[in-house]
Amino acid sequence: MLKIIILCISFIIPTSLVFAHEADHNKTKKQYHTVDKLKVTTLSTMLASRGIGEWGYAALIEVDNKKILFDTGNRPDTVLQNAEDLKIDLSEVEDVILSHNHGDHTGGLLKLHSVLSLKNPNALKRIHVGKGIFSKRHNRSNHIIALRDKLKAKGVEFIIYDKQQELFPGVWLTGPVERIHSERNWGGNGKIVTSNGLIEDNIPEDLSLVVDTKQGFVLVSGCGHAGVINTMEHINNHIHPGKITTAIGGFHLVSANDEHLAWTAAKMQSFGLTNLIGAHCTGVDALYSIRTLLKSDRKHMVVGSVGDQFDIKSGIKAGYIAH
Ligand SMILES: [Zn+2]
Ligand SMILES: [Zn+2]
Repeated sequence: MLKIIILCISFIIPTSLVFAHEADHNKTKKQYHTVDKLKVTTLSTMLASRGIGEWGYAALIEVDNKKILFDTGNRPDTVLQNAEDLKIDLSEVEDVILSHNHGDHTGGLLKLHSVLSLKNPNALKRIHVGKGIFSKRHNRSNHIIALRDKLKAKGVEFIIYDKQQELFPGVWLTGPVERIHSERNWGGNGKIVTSNGLIEDNIPEDLSLVVDTKQGFVLVSGCGHAGVINTMEHINNHIHPGKITTAIGGFHLVSANDEHLAWTAAKMQSFGLTNLIGAHCTGVDALYSIRTLLKSDRKHMVVGSVGDQFDIKSGIKAGYIAH
């Protein structure tokens, strides 16, 4: 009898352990939400076969049932005009992300707010930014400070991030990015005023949007001042490990030499990158060099243009000029 009981226990214990282990495993898998729907549409960049091209960047992110504006272009009217030409209604957008302080990403904000808030009082009511965006810059006025004050007076809220944050389920902000690798993707002449004197302005606030999908992460970058590879490392180190299959936006490789492009392409490959829309300051030649180095094609790696799209179900729909 005792033998039978021991036998029964020895069957029960491992089985219950297996169940417990499976439950833990499922919990780990479920810990991160992935989105079902995602569409990214370019609204400001240099190249345009429809709408207006300019030195600047903006994109509309439609994710599950949310609309988010990522950057606002350079000139006051570009994004408004391009959205109208593309028959996109921006008045439902309540959340704006500003990748950094530069005018080619923030220039459209005030006009967009004044026009869209007439239709929807809640339009563009929350502005998400990285810590350091309001820092005093040496020898130039940081226009974002005056912009903030004007918008705050209209009831707009600025939310500042000093680290990664899940904004909506599966939709993340990187927060300021550690500069692990020396990707010097900025002008190099600017200085920030601190209580200990002047320090180099490496645009410390630069942040990116990251969307977690079943296929992998989708990265949307404004000017890439933190470096595309630093940003990818940051995603895996601070959000969670996983493939970064798609990168969209400005990656500031316009002045990169062949050696740096080869290093960048190899790193991109190691992160599992298969789709790239290189808009704004990525550089046309840099985009084609990376496409060649990654043995990719015109369906998966294109120069960004106004109105082009990325959809997680159908992939990249390049603009006519960038087919
Ligand atoms: Zn910039
Ligand atoms: Zn820029």
